[in-house]
Amino acid sequence: MECITVLGATGSVGVSTLDVLARHPERYQVYALTANTSWQQLAIQVRKHQPRYAVLSDIGAAELLRQELAGSNCTTHVLAGEQALVEVAGAADVDTVMAAIVGGAGLLPTFAAVEAGKKVLLANKEVLVMAGGLFMAEARRSGAQILPIDSEHNAIFQCLPLQKGLAAGCNLAELGVRKILLTASGGPFRDTPLAELAGVTPAQACAHPNWDMGQKISVDSASMMNKGLELIEACWLFNCSPDDIEVLIHPQSVIHSMVEYVDGSVLAQLGNPDMRTPIAHALGWPERVASGVPALDMVAAARLDFSAPDYHRFPCLSLAQQAASLGQTAPAALNAANEVAVAAFLRGELAFTEIAEVNKRVLLAAELTEPVDLSVVQIADAKAREHARRLIAAAFT
Ligand code: NAD
Ligand code: MG
Repeated sequence: MECITVLGATGSVGVSTLDVLARHPERYQVYALTANTSWQQLAIQVRKHQPRYAVLSDIGAAELLRQELAGSNCTTHVLAGEQALVEVAGAADVDTVMAAIVGGAGLLPTFAAVEAGKKVLLANKEVLVMAGGLFMAEARRSGAQILPIDSEHNAIFQCLPLQKGLAAGCNLAELGVRKILLTASGGPFRDTPLAELAGVTPAQACAHPNWDMGQKISVDSASMMNKGLELIEACWLFNCSPDDIEVLIHPQSVIHSMVEYVDGSVLAQLGNPDMRTPIAHALGWPERVASGVPALDMVAAARLDFSAPDYHRFPCLSLAQQAASLGQTAPAALNAANEVAVAAFLRGELAFTEIAEVNKRVLLAAELTEPVDLSVVQIADAKAREHARRLIAAAFT
């Protein structure tokens, strides 16, 4: 039995993960489920999956879950706080950790899983953007196997001849790779008149044409900051530079990314836009397990379109390229600014187009240092958040 902790169990990726796990009760056993505040949803998951631990970051929510489960025949222990997240991610009995917390909040628990040498299914892209160098170095030291869950990175991984996984290191030149083609749907505002972008609402931004995801990543997809974060994520996972990666708009989201080789071959991974496919791929790797995703109907898909991205429409994509080239703590600063700006947009305190403006100002002002350990990253993150909050409070309200 493979013993699994799901960090961020109540989110979009977490729910898809539990769906796949429930299809293979003979193979997987849930060790811990975690969430931030959503104790009612976690209670339902705990009753179904009977984990040894349930963790809520929020102490009040944990108390409510404890009361809810008291008196039932459920043997799950309820824990609270960030330190408990770190413990269930690195516990000796755990084989595999699904890192599906959104944003920088996942930094310490995900790092704990890598430090403890787990098989880490990595959905939480923000932590790689913040501290990718430290994550990959720690994985090499501990022997942790990092498997990408982000559909594009999972596709690229599937198109590369890496039988031993990413832990053994990835050298694109040695593998005969000319470039990585990172595909993007272009989100809900791909064709929206530019003059209307300033007035779009959170509901419009969260209505992604192809994927059903959490709010933060949905807004990032609409601004294409998501593709920018993914570019940085890919640089760390596949040990390459932004110049090795071409972003390509592909509105149908049938191809999830491609790899071009020196002989002219281009390998692509195709599938329905359903996260259960990359989740099942990573869970089963190097074997294949059923995901519950229906077969791709190529006749119904019928056509696949491609175009170059419009950097004028999507300034966040250029900012991410700039941060990737700057290196050091620039990606951490950009990510932090973006988390604050997106939260403000979702609260109705910032216009959609001002997200890029906040991100740009914070990135350009950020004092860059070498992220030699997690505390350097955390300081850069805190400073950038503070700067973004000041900008939003002063100029944009
Ligand atoms: P979501 O908002 O649906 O879920 C987030 C989860 O994290 C929830 O369980 C929530 O309780 C938990 N969480 C939030 N804040 C927390 C905090 N401060 N402390 C502890 N836990 C906290 O998000 P999602 O869409 O499932 O995305 C999760 C991650 O996966 C993100 O990094 C996202 O970029 C990445 N990802 C998601 C998708 C997708 O299809 N949803 C695809 C690719 C990558
Ligand atoms: Mg993605």
